[in-house]
Amino acid sequence: MDPRPVVVATRNRHKIEEIRLLLAGLPVRLLTLDEAGVAAELVEDGDTFAENAAAKAGQASAACGLWALADDSGLEVDALGGRPGVRSARYAGPGATDAHNNAKIVEEAVAAGLVRPVCRFRCAAALRVAGGDLPLDALRDAGALPFPGDPRPAEVSLDGRTLVVEGAVEGELVVEPRGGGGFGYDPHFWMEPLGRTMAELPREEKNRVSHRARAFGRMRRVLEALLRAEVRA
Ligand code: IMP
Repeated sequence: MDPRPVVVATRNRHKIEEIRLLLAGLPVRLLTLDEAGVAAELVEDGDTFAENAAAKAGQASAACGLWALADDSGLEVDALGGRPGVRSARYAGPGATDAHNNAKIVEEAVAAGLVRPVCRFRCAAALRVAGGDLPLDALRDAGALPFPGDPRPAEVSLDGRTLVVEGAVEGELVVEPRGGGGFGYDPHFWMEPLGRTMAELPREEKNRVSHRARAFGRMRRVLEALLRAEVRA
């Protein structure tokens, strides 16, 4: 069977690279928005990572008719009310670079007298299917969806075509940046158990421990089960 084309609803090349590695080996052909012919800017004005991921996947799928995957992610600093949160990408204003955003959150932490405050990367991964509803029973039977009582249930949107799974990882926000890998807030995200920042981890290691690895690890099981169910149908 030919691999199923799936558009990845992001223009962030770092995210695309990480998602490609996290889903490697599945019978899917991941397309960028440009490759799928989606020129429109995707609107993300929700209050949560899950809402934004679902919105981006929905818009991309509607624009090209393909299944769509989306990632909405960011950093939360607990002692700063969860900022920058869903505004992580443009925290320092429209057109902000990673350097601007990093400087702003670090300055806020310092101004508040915080020393290595607890923080968390969160990622919501959304899948929007086209041409029918998600076969939820098949996903449950395959163990890809939680059974009742799962403490972190996957959300399935009301129209039954969008599924969102989440992942998170905790760390500490440090003032001095370290490391040249990854992107975004990685150089300021200290992981005490590893004794390094996220930006100091080799790519494969970030892809084992990150919020995106956790969310897309779960998404991988969903896709495996869906594609198996399609083959049987
Ligand atoms: P989004 O494109 O609206 O989901 O915004 C994501 C933003 O969150 C990025 O621009 C980064 O600033 C931040 N972010 C998300 N994932 C990561 C990561 O893996 N490392 C560092 N920063 C991240």
